[in-house]
Amino acid sequence: MSTATLTIDLDAIAANWRALADANTGETAAVVKADAYGLGAARVARRLARAGARSFFVAVAEEGAALREVVGPEAAIHVFSGHMPGDADMIADCGLVPMINSVDQMIRHAEALPGHAFGLQLDTGMNRLGMEPAEWQAVREIALAQAPVLIMSHLACADAPDHPMNAQQLRAFREMTEGLDIPRSLANTGGILLHPEYHFDLARPGIGLYGGAPFTEAAPVVTLDIPVIQCRDLEPGESVGYGCDFIAARPTRIATIAAGYGDGILRAMGPRTMLYAEDTPCPVAGRISMDLIAVDVTDLGHDPAHLRLLGPEQGIDHLADNAGTIGYEILTSLGGRYTRRYIGA
Ligand SMILES: *Cc1c(COP(=O)(O)O)cnc(C)c1O
Repeated sequence: MSTATLTIDLDAIAANWRALADANTGETAAVVKADAYGLGAARVARRLARAGARSFFVAVAEEGAALREVVGPEAAIHVFSGHMPGDADMIADCGLVPMINSVDQMIRHAEALPGHAFGLQLDTGMNRLGMEPAEWQAVREIALAQAPVLIMSHLACADAPDHPMNAQQLRAFREMTEGLDIPRSLANTGGILLHPEYHFDLARPGIGLYGGAPFTEAAPVVTLDIPVIQCRDLEPGESVGYGCDFIAARPTRIATIAAGYGDGILRAMGPRTMLYAEDTPCPVAGRISMDLIAVDVTDLGHDPAHLRLLGPEQGIDHLADNAGTIGYEILTSLGGRYTRRYIGA
């Protein structure tokens, strides 16, 4: 078998949820959109439900419908994209809570599913989803008369504690929701860590559950072990891979491993990235190919059976820095070819 093994530690995810729930003053939900950031929404949500999570958030209604099968009838499942055309049956049958983003969605929801639970999403400055202050003013009374179950907004800069946008959005959210007797939600992972003022009634952490920044205390969640297919010796002056980017400066031992950018190992991370044989870092040699990566194992002194790309030695944020991206993209890029192994189920 030459596929790499992605090990997902469900106990670590549960521990991260617990730690964030302890830091949070309100209820703590779990964001499991995009297949729980690539780690498997069904397995992750089932484990988090067992850890005590009662509220979940997904991006689209289809994700919510799949999640309902997993978390049972009692859990609350909120949909960030709100009520889109064609969603009514799924929302009704699966008991989803659409987070209504606009007057159009409000009308669609009230007409298709009068009396069915919904939430409201307000825009406090991110300009991505939700009603802006003027729109909110216009529909506020009508919307409130339908008894929304949650009012939320989303922070644009919660991972940058000193950014003035945080306080600005907090002020806007307070102004737009003052005096309402409806549960409120503003904080993602970064928002929980900012200050209790941002917590309100319900927080919505995602990345922190999966071991990513800005939750620097998070337990590592993923390990990626890639089999070595072949090893070879190079004379000084010989090159490796496309474009001959790596040229041996000394007698060199190269191990070729069975994964590449086709598995989400972003090509851009190549020049700065190490593969680990136990504790020993071995540099990538030359360009990352679609299915293969050459690794310089000269200093290791033996031929390894596997090399590790992700683990406690080198986490998602480290790889993200190497590739000029964020941990979220490293996780959601994790390839479909990996054998996924869960521990702590
Ligand atoms: C993705 C998302 C979250 C979770 O954010 P993290 O930074 O991953 O904690 C919360 N709220 C909304 C609206 C989101 O889109």
